[in-house]
Amino acid sequence: MLLVMQITFNLRHLEKKSLHLEGEISGADLDLNEMDELVQVLGPVKYDLSIERLSERLLVRGELVFTLDCECIRCLKPFRKAFELSDWTCDLPLEGEEQVAVNNDSVDLTPFIREDILLGFPQYPLCESECRGLPKAPQNQSQAGSDASQTGELSSAWAELNKLKF
Ligand SMILES: [Zn+2]
Repeated sequence: MLLVMQITFNLRHLEKKSLHLEGEISGADLDLNEMDELVQVLGPVKYDLSIERLSERLLVRGELVFTLDCECIRCLKPFRKAFELSDWTCDLPLEGEEQVAVNNDSVDLTPFIREDILLGFPQYPLCESECRGLPKAPQNQSQAGSDASQTGELSSAWAELNKLKF
C-alpha cells in the first residue's frame, strides 16, 4: 500500500484553543508533480500554520514555503523559483454547501494547500522576463550539423548498398 502523507488535524483538539501545525510535505505527497510538464515541486513544502475555530468555521493562517522547479517555456532552461507565502489563509466552513469534509473529527488540509500552490504555478514559466528563447544561430548550426552528419552516414550507407547492387 502506498502511504501518502497528509496534513490533518483533529477538530476535538480545537475546542478550547487554537492549534499549531508545523512540518514538511513533499510535492509528490501533494500530488503536484504530474500536473504540469514545465513546473514541479521537487523539494519539500514547509508549512507553519495556526488553526482557530470561529463558531461555525475554521480559520487556517500561516506560512507556506516551497520552491517550484520550472523549465523555461522559451529556452527550455531549468530554473527554480522560491516562494514564501507568509500570509496564507484558508477559511473552512463547518456548515453549509461549502462545508469542509470531516472524517472521524479529522480535517485534511492537504487539498487546500495543494490547490493554492497549483494556482501559483506560472502558466508561461520564463527563466527571466527578457528571455529571448534559444539563440537562433547556434541552434540552427547544431541542427544542421547533426542533420548533415546523419545524412552523411545515411548516404554512405546507401553508397555501400549501391556498391553491392551494382
Ligand atoms: Zn529562458
